Amino acid sequence: MMRPEVQGTLQARSAPPDALGRVLSDLRISVIDRCNFRCPYCMPEEAYPADHAFQRARERLGFEEIERIARAFVSLGVRKLRLTGGEPLLRRDLPDLVARLAAIEGVEDLALTSNGALLPKFARPLREAGLRRVTLSMDSVDPDIFRRMSGGRGELADAEAAIAAAERAGFGPLKINCVVMRGVNDDGILDLVARFRGSGHVVRFIEYMDVGTVNRWRDDRVVPGAELVQRIDARWPLEAMPRDRMSTSRRWRFRDGAGELGFINSVTEPFCGGCTRARLSADGKLYTCLFAHAGHDLRALLRAGESDAALRATVAGIWSHRGDRYSERRAELRAAGVLEHVEMYRIGG
Ligand code: SF4
Repeated sequence: MMRPEVQGTLQARSAPPDALGRVLSDLRISVIDRCNFRCPYCMPEEAYPADHAFQRARERLGFEEIERIARAFVSLGVRKLRLTGGEPLLRRDLPDLVARLAAIEGVEDLALTSNGALLPKFARPLREAGLRRVTLSMDSVDPDIFRRMSGGRGELADAEAAIAAAERAGFGPLKINCVVMRGVNDDGILDLVARFRGSGHVVRFIEYMDVGTVNRWRDDRVVPGAELVQRIDARWPLEAMPRDRMSTSRRWRFRDGAGELGFINSVTEPFCGGCTRARLSADGKLYTCLFAHAGHDLRALLRAGESDAALRATVAGIWSHRGDRYSERRAELRAAGVLEHVEMYRIGG
């Protein structure tokens, strides 16, 4: 629980809202750009073969640098930190970073997004270090389609083992992300729902997005969240849950009490108006939108010996000028040829 005097100080120093009145509250921290999967909607194999030159260790922020940046964001009002990648569990000694971040006064939520393949080895040490929540991914319960959607690198059995390991370590309920691509895995969504109904875990269906520059996005491959709701409702009646404007997910629950589902409809029902997320890449660039073209180099600031106060002022300044709302303007921007976006794996989705 945050000490009152710290609460007061933190509130006093929150960052000004951005140009659209959105108040900074979440920081997603990518700790590595490498991944052990090659999901076609993020890091397709043909664009990232095994010998692709990813960032070298010295290019990545060290744990002390990540902690300094996180402290600056927390002092500016951030309450939620999420560790991402690439695949964050590929970053050595990750529990040490978790322990550093968990110790920051003001952090109310510390989560991790992972494909889970390495989780059985790390679930308990991460939990003991202070990690609060884990979000995993499962794009299909059909082993062949699962393998295909991981670029031939992942096995459904490993994803199931990750869920079991997370449960044993005391994480739960888990969020299970599923990116839906028409003609690839959408025929299997009822089977995926059946797998998790009554489990307490929440499946979140994510619309296939034009992230980055290499996933060959086509809008006819997008299955609107509303269509998925209809398909599922026909099998298991659903009811909408109250809308949380700050959440990316539209929540629905089963009328028979078997739990809930989430739908992240960035393409058909954009949520930029409530977007309060900043993203930090593993090499220390601050991105103000998932579809940003370029980031702001905080690593250079740190390595030039700038103070924490200078870091905080820089971040507050960047945020106050933020006007991003790509998803709301997607059609117009794509028509205008605005197709250059940072690769999603570099900023963790
Ligand atoms: S498109 Fe950008 S501004 Fe809109 S919700 Fe996504 S990250 Fe936020």
